[in-house]
Amino acid sequence: MNNPTAQANHHKVIILGSGPAGLTAAIYTSRANLAPLLLHGPLAGGQLTTTTDVENFPGFPEGIMGPELMQMMEKQAVRFGTTLGVDTIIQVDLSSRPFQLKGQSKSYSCDALIVSTGATPKYIGAKNERELLGYGVSTCATCDGAFFRNKVIAVVGGGDSACEEASFLTRFASKLYLIHRRDALRASKIMQDRVLSNPKIELVWNKHVLEVEGDRQAGVTGLALEDTVTKDISTLPVDALFVAIGHTPNSHLFTNQLAMDESGYLLHSADSAETTIPGVFVCGDVQDHVFRQAVTAAGSGCMAAIGAERWLEAQH
Ligand code: NAP
Repeated sequence: MNNPTAQANHHKVIILGSGPAGLTAAIYTSRANLAPLLLHGPLAGGQLTTTTDVENFPGFPEGIMGPELMQMMEKQAVRFGTTLGVDTIIQVDLSSRPFQLKGQSKSYSCDALIVSTGATPKYIGAKNERELLGYGVSTCATCDGAFFRNKVIAVVGGGDSACEEASFLTRFASKLYLIHRRDALRASKIMQDRVLSNPKIELVWNKHVLEVEGDRQAGVTGLALEDTVTKDISTLPVDALFVAIGHTPNSHLFTNQLAMDESGYLLHSADSAETTIPGVFVCGDVQDHVFRQAVTAAGSGCMAAIGAERWLEAQH
């Protein structure tokens, strides 16, 4: 990659992504005097900025708003010497050292790279779905389920995620509708059995969610559904909608450079956060399709930072 400004923009450590993983990596690497540059795109703070209350991050017994938690992490990272930059990286070259990164506004190089680019939940595209995100619409049952105790909850999807979220949410829901666009679930047999035998869960087959009804004051009040076979429109009164149709890891930048699984999640060695390229470390949701929690992302950010620090030390 042609990079005439590499010298001026060289950093020992560059961190891509500003969710809990990236910011934790920044706190650790800056405290190790590595003066990291943390780059993020237009959505600073990652997925947590699209939630409201976070009640399961340790240390906040009364809960904390997602955006506020991210601002506090950012402040902590800056306090120890992290430089923050807004630039969407559009190309990376990890074939030689220093690693080269090309952003929309500048080019950069670094000795060690920490990838914490996260994952993007898939949305159904229903009217009002995005507007009511955090106000009754959620993509994370573990994060938001407890806000809907004794309420009527709908989950949309037919895979393992939807079945897992539906089963989990029956701890809180008075009634749960699992809405699927076909008449057969994609989920594994065991997950299907769990859902089908749960007396609180009612399957709503062959339905597509057209619109989420409600507003930010009242929250979600119902769903407009279209029958995928007859095209009939109906309304289902619910208090919350959990969208569970999968996530897309933000790993496309690294195609043909870093090893990833068939869904695009980046792979790393079993006992460290190091990827298939020495000096490139990975943390957060771009490498995790199992836990996907702020606290697990933060933990993996710490691991990536310590990995990078030790690797850099070994180079000298
Ligand atoms: P998935 O298997 O791809 O299933 C996505 C589901 O959402 C499908 O049923 C699909 O419908 C539906 N869907 C997709 N786009 C939609 C749209 N626009 N509108 C309405 N419905 C839509 O995704 P996943 O459930 O997140 O699972 C991903 C991977 O993680 C799988 O390999 C899964 O086994 C694994 N996983 C495992 C566990 C576990 O073992 N505990 C838990 C979660 C996930 P169709 O069926 O019609 O395509």
